[in-house]
Amino acid sequence: MRFVRVALPVPLGRAFSYTLSEERSVLPGARVVVELGRQKCIGVALETTDAPPPDIPPAKWKPILEILDEEPILPRELMEFLRELARYYLVPIGEVMRLALPVLERKHAAQIEKAHGKRLRAAGRLVQTARARDVPDKELPRLSPQARALLTQLRERGLTPVKNLQETFKSARSIVKRLAQLELVELSETALEEEDRFFAEEVPKDEPKVLNDGQAAAKRAITGALEAHQPAAFLLDGVTASGKTEVYLQAASRALELGRGVLILVPEIALTPQLIARFRARLGDDIAAVHSELTDKAKLSMWRGIRQGRLRVVVGARSAIFAPIRDLGLVCVDEEHDPSYKQEERVRYHARDMALLRARKANAVCVLGSATPSLASEALVTRRKLVRLVLPERAHSGAELPQIELIDLKRFGPGPTQSPLISLPLHRAIEQTLSEGGQTILFLNRRGFAPSYICESCGAIATCPDCSVALTLHRASGERLTCHYCGFTRTSLKVCEECGHSTFLLEGAGTEQIESIIAESFPTARVARLDRDVAGGTKSGPVLDRMRKGEVDILVGTQMVTKGHDLPRVTLVGVLNADTALSMPDFRAAERTFQLLVQVAGRAGRHDRPGKVLIQTRTPDHPALLAAKNHDVRAFVRTELDSRLEANFPPFAQLALVRFEGVDEVKVRDESLRMARVAKAQSPLVEIMGPAPAPISRIQNRYRYRFMIRSAERAPLREALLSVVRTPVVSQVRMSVDIDPQNLL
Ligand code: ADP
Ligand code: ZN
Repeated sequence: MRFVRVALPVPLGRAFSYTLSEERSVLPGARVVVELGRQKCIGVALETTDAPPPDIPPAKWKPILEILDEEPILPRELMEFLRELARYYLVPIGEVMRLALPVLERKHAAQIEKAHGKRLRAAGRLVQTARARDVPDKELPRLSPQARALLTQLRERGLTPVKNLQETFKSARSIVKRLAQLELVELSETALEEEDRFFAEEVPKDEPKVLNDGQAAAKRAITGALEAHQPAAFLLDGVTASGKTEVYLQAASRALELGRGVLILVPEIALTPQLIARFRARLGDDIAAVHSELTDKAKLSMWRGIRQGRLRVVVGARSAIFAPIRDLGLVCVDEEHDPSYKQEERVRYHARDMALLRARKANAVCVLGSATPSLASEALVTRRKLVRLVLPERAHSGAELPQIELIDLKRFGPGPTQSPLISLPLHRAIEQTLSEGGQTILFLNRRGFAPSYICESCGAIATCPDCSVALTLHRASGERLTCHYCGFTRTSLKVCEECGHSTFLLEGAGTEQIESIIAESFPTARVARLDRDVAGGTKSGPVLDRMRKGEVDILVGTQMVTKGHDLPRVTLVGVLNADTALSMPDFRAAERTFQLLVQVAGRAGRHDRPGKVLIQTRTPDHPALLAAKNHDVRAFVRTELDSRLEANFPPFAQLALVRFEGVDEVKVRDESLRMARVAKAQSPLVEIMGPAPAPISRIQNRYRYRFMIRSAERAPLREALLSVVRTPVVSQVRMSVDIDPQNLL
């Protein structure tokens, strides 16, 4: 009797063991049907052992009911990666497995669970596919030039539908048949989706650029490691528009030449269309562009294409880290400092950290790129886990880094608009940019019209009934008050709910208000807005296209405007208020602000025309602002690392946040106190901060408490957390563990 350890998609912390008779075998990564409680359930086999499970008496052993896959549904390397991820973040392996399987695959599994006993039939239809067998060149028989050419192509493409070969070879069918008789080619029937064309529009081809010295050296380092087939990790530290993407492209080409797969992670989906177009222009259309807006069917067919090795390049946001890429050779993480790499629900993983892990497991090369590297990556360079590659200059000949000025709002009052957020110097700069025919970007990290709506008489602020948050006034699509945390929306108040007074004050300004002020003050300018209200998901495309075509003069937006867009005509960038980001209750506030400023400044003057950046602030002496002004990443990193060391925060300490939420505040508080004691008792080497109410103490009617665990080393932190996750909480309270937390709110 042997035992198979099976990962099940249930929120329990461990794998389950099932018995398997001697004559059957199951490969790690194959799906199996088993019984869990009284239900049939699909799981993924992890490993087969001879050792019986120590904690289950033989009477309770249960068999594997059915083996669904002869071949692993996930490649071994990916399986091992997922297991390590589960271990690192202390989450059930089954939960992690879910992340790696597309929804339809899971739905499909649900059907099998119901109709257990029916053989798995893949969605889609069967088509004839061919794959070249591994035969050394010198053993090849004499072949016609056509047959030889077809074979060469098959070797490059891996598993290929015969139909697709007919595009190049008219008599592909008969050639393939002949090659199969000679045992040079393997023919099979494979379930493929209906021929999906992922890309509707054609993209003109593009040639590799002649690299400058910095780029060439970076490329050499990366391709050198690829050719040596050794794992390696680099920090591509290049100023904005230094041509980092060009380096990814050329490294990707080389990886493909070497027969290896490529994964490119990008922070935000809004960014992807332009980047994907660049990859297609260079590498062709066999690219999987993974993003959340795809239909489930498209996701499934892409996933299959990747698994079959038909799609060798995957570009996508953080979840693309789970793509079943074959023989992964290169992983690039663009804008590695971006906070959106952290998943903030269920499995709270950080895609940058996991990219390093996955690459190492796959013997692949990992490249983290940024103009403003995270302090985490800087620390890895110091510890020689990352090799720094520097691109010191902008790539486009003639493009210089923009000139940055700090505008002290204590000295400069409002300009002609009367808005305190548009100082006189900024107003003048906008005027001048307009007269020169340049484009302006105005950045304000607050959407809506006004962030607070206050009763003029009693001073009561309109707040969300379910969250401890002020409601934001919106006007662009009808006047309403909205909660930015839970989405609660109401028509704006006619009378104050506290005192019955009927006039209100608006405090502060959001992008809607700035847009309307600007449109009024510059009547000839074409003004547009870019934030989540006008463009959720990938819908930022149209606005950015209008910018690119020169149909917009002034673009007002939230951080959506700061991300890597390449907009050649932008010559002025105004940061309306640098202080909001600086004053966040988060030890990373300075780091985030610095990154944000350098990134948004990086939108200016990317091509021939010089760019100018104005940053408005009340704290013009803040080191993060001064460093941004001087484009001095090194200076910022130095001072910020010093203050982290002094305050004992990452990268010099290990952190985890344990969160509690529930409707009953007393229970939530009591549970957080009890668990904090559990953690402390387990490991005297850790420091517990809290518990305390979260800065936003209530969301969607749930009270929120948390405590932080800090430790110099990872081991004691893990011990403490393990004892916490193994201690049951009362059912009315939800507890979640966030390892290496990024969001402290
Ligand atoms: P980054 O990814 O660092 O922001 P990009 O790769 O987008 O930079 O490059 C910025 C601009 O410079 C792009 O328009 C790109 O086409 C151009 N570029 C990149 N490398 C070169 C090069 N070696 N020669 C000329 N232009 C280049
Ligand atoms: Zn709310």
